[in-house]
Amino acid sequence: MNFGKCGGALSVARATSRARGVHCNQGEFLFLVMDEDKHRIQTYYRALFRAWGPQHWWPAQSRLEVIVGAYLTQNTAWTNVEKALANLRAARVLSLKGIREISLSELERLIRPAGYFRQKAKRLKLFVAFLDERYKGSLKKLFARPTNDLREELLSLHGIGPETADSILLYAGNHPVFVVDAYTRRIIARHGILSEEASYEEIRDVFERALAPMAEAIADSSDAENQTLAAGIAGAAHPPSAMSTAKRTALTQVYNEMHGLIVGVGKNYCRKSDPSCTECPLFVFLSDGKLRLKGA
Ligand code: SF4
Repeated sequence: MNFGKCGGALSVARATSRARGVHCNQGEFLFLVMDEDKHRIQTYYRALFRAWGPQHWWPAQSRLEVIVGAYLTQNTAWTNVEKALANLRAARVLSLKGIREISLSELERLIRPAGYFRQKAKRLKLFVAFLDERYKGSLKKLFARPTNDLREELLSLHGIGPETADSILLYAGNHPVFVVDAYTRRIIARHGILSEEASYEEIRDVFERALAPMAEAIADSSDAENQTLAAGIAGAAHPPSAMSTAKRTALTQVYNEMHGLIVGVGKNYCRKSDPSCTECPLFVFLSDGKLRLKGA
């Protein structure tokens, strides 16, 4: 069992059958990561990677394209985002300069396929204004900030929640943070690792603690594993892109890959209703062969 860092005393705050949360007397809320859960998450990674290989996330040619995609994908399917991105590309405004200079109404028109287009257009404009004001319009300067400081700063922006902030940090900035999405939440709840009510930060913490120790080993072995992939379905893989092949640390790579693999499970098998468990690569890890559905 591992504990997070605490400068003072720890006390168990929430006793469940899997004793999870503890309070630190210095005001932090920390999490226990059971060795068993760590091992399970590591095993899931290996099984999925062996089945599908590298997922090549994020499908983008530039950091700005990742950021725009992270905003646009809120509450909509990626296929709709692709249409909006294609419109921006065709209008030659998929750049900081383009978004800075285009009128709000024209931006709204171009991103309309992604839904909530008025709200999203305003948020994209706000992001560029923030970048101009604080970082002289430089993404390089923005991403040079320490991870935790930048995360706080992004979360303070209107329209950026934890999933969007972490997608920007990980996929645009190559910062080592794990992105938690609805699929992650659903899969670990159904496998009894955490409850469906677990907070975003709790889930992120569990995944980061599980994946961090295996980062170097995965980096060393990935080339060999890639060559033995089965043909056919490949999760949620994208063709390699400038951003997916960018240089990054082993730790960033393992967080990057795991999120992509989880999306593959969610999209292909672990649907909200009627999941296809028996065809899923994670079926063998359902502890009692039964789904843990909410309210069950
Ligand atoms: S589809 Fe079934 S086996 Fe696959 S992750 Fe979801 S609950 Fe697990």
